[in-house]
Amino acid sequence: MTLVVQKYGGTSVGTVERIQAVAQRVKRTVEAGNAVVVVVSAMGKTTDGLVKLASEISANPSRREMDMLLSTGEQVSIALLSMALQELGQPAISLTGAQVGIVTEAEYSRARILRIETDRLNRHLAQGEVVVVAGFQGISSTDELEITTLGRGGSDTSAVALAAALHADYCEIYTDVPGILTTDPRLVPDAQLMTEITSDEMLELASLGAKVLHPRAVEIARNFGVPLVVRSSWTEDPGTWVISHAPSGRSLEGLELTRAVDAVEFDTDQAKVSLLRVPDRPGVAARLFGEIATQDLNVDLIIQSIHEGNSNDIAFTVAKDSLNRAEAVANAIIPALCGGVPAATDAEVMVEQQIAKVSIAGAGMIGRPGVAAQMFSTLAAAGVNIRMISTSEVKVSCVIAEEDCDRAIAALCLAFDVNTSPVDQEAAPIQNSKSAIQNSPLPPVRGVALDQKQARLAIRHVPDRPGMAARIFQLLADHNVSVDMIIQSQRCRLANGETTRDIAFTVAQMDAESARQVIVAASSDLGCGEVVVDPAIAKVSIVGAGMVNQPGVAARMFAALAQHQINIQMIATSEIKVSCVVSEADGVKALQVIHDAFELSGNQKIQVPA
Ligand code: ADP
Ligand code: ASP
Ligand code: MG
Repeated sequence: MTLVVQKYGGTSVGTVERIQAVAQRVKRTVEAGNAVVVVVSAMGKTTDGLVKLASEISANPSRREMDMLLSTGEQVSIALLSMALQELGQPAISLTGAQVGIVTEAEYSRARILRIETDRLNRHLAQGEVVVVAGFQGISSTDELEITTLGRGGSDTSAVALAAALHADYCEIYTDVPGILTTDPRLVPDAQLMTEITSDEMLELASLGAKVLHPRAVEIARNFGVPLVVRSSWTEDPGTWVISHAPSGRSLEGLELTRAVDAVEFDTDQAKVSLLRVPDRPGVAARLFGEIATQDLNVDLIIQSIHEGNSNDIAFTVAKDSLNRAEAVANAIIPALCGGVPAATDAEVMVEQQIAKVSIAGAGMIGRPGVAAQMFSTLAAAGVNIRMISTSEVKVSCVIAEEDCDRAIAALCLAFDVNTSPVDQEAAPIQNSKSAIQNSPLPPVRGVALDQKQARLAIRHVPDRPGMAARIFQLLADHNVSVDMIIQSQRCRLANGETTRDIAFTVAQMDAESARQVIVAASSDLGCGEVVVDPAIAKVSIVGAGMVNQPGVAARMFAALAQHQINIQMIATSEIKVSCVVSEADGVKALQVIHDAFELSGNQKIQVPA
């Protein structure tokens, strides 16, 4: 018999009528010959309501009591859905996370799942019952049996984890939109439905703000090869499949505690071009990378660091054999970028040929603030200075001197207990052989996302010596602050007789103040200058596996922003994404114009319920 895990989100169980409609669908699934485990969220906006109640009592409630409170929402909906199924004559039983045995770390409000007991679930299924499980919650593995929650939006993760533990045939996520769209239809009404997306792309999109799937759910689907589909609760349409590589036969023990880093990658064929002190105004990145794309030069990493006064630094890497042409383009364009008066801004081009890029990669680093810090401290301990840092949620890349590359790789492999792979490693076969993805070229941009919940911090005058990034990010990790984009400026300045650089990074808005305090408290020890916080930012990103080896994709994004006079404050790229930080006020507009620029809009009108 086929075993299906279905998950219904808050809107899908928001009223009694909707719960009854869900029961009908579950019953139809059983009648079609499937065993069904159902995971539900709390009804409608119940969880938000509970958070608000708590905030009326305490500005800083205990995380234990918050989990006790928030886990009640799901308990209401499992009981009601089981009753609705029983009313339809369908045997059903509701179970909390604790009753199932969804065992998590003893970490309130963001617990990771360690294992799921399947005996009781299988017993009920064998009796022909539908098992309705409370999403988002678990029980700690300690003797105290503490109630934990997985973090907001975590029911998706409960569902995919259950599918992995039960070896279900597939997992269906039912929600209030027809599937995964090119972007959030609430912000861009002409967003289009996609039929498929790779799990690598979805992991980036989910981490960059597309809340249709919890990133950890995608991570589990990818690690265990769980076939995953996102569909509408209101229609019979097929929705969007998330396509993963073939499962690796991973152990289910420590389910979400997979190792943080899967691979250390390196590339010694790169060279770096930096443009220092270019004007800070809309259109500069667009012109530069537009010209580079016209020359058919493929750019790998791009970073643009924070500005000081009215100028920016932009750095990028290209293949070594393209360096001369890239340098010529950069030199030729400086007068135009500076409005014909380059001397007024002291703009200059710098190239470095003897460099290497080393990266650590792995979905397990999501939400683990210590991983980037561990990379930086490993490099520092090996005496390797970091010249450029670029991060995504699932990868941290550092540009270092080429002569340090072997030492860096050896140290990183030892620290993370993994093997190396060169960057262009053959991908494992894709699991769903019927999928069009493995036969057709991947689009350069699959989707666009907006994250409005980040703040930017800049630390001025950080001494330029090995170990500084390690110390800063270890400090933040010790205080449980997850850092997102990290950018180190290209420009070195003298301060107090020492060469210094600025480091900028983004964190969740709610962590910004504690991050600032942590750095300020340590700043005299670190020898660095002022710490500046800007909470009024937005991060807009494009994601697509086809952008690797396709010149001009980033340029098109920058051009779209320039055309609408949107200034780019920070840029960071990884192989399959480009992210730009813009002002908060420009966020939604930026998302819309980028979505348009890549012709992702269509004429299908997406209905979004209130
Ligand atoms: P649920 O309660 O079912 O878990 P969520 O509100 O968590 O639903 O997620 C669905 C919402 O995600 C949609 O209503 C939509 O506004 C938003 N969303 C953001 N980005 C995307 C995207 N790329 N595709 C589809 N929906 C998206
Ligand atoms: N009810 C929880 C929340 O609102 C979990 C979920 O819906 O996925 O975050
Ligand atoms: Mg959700």
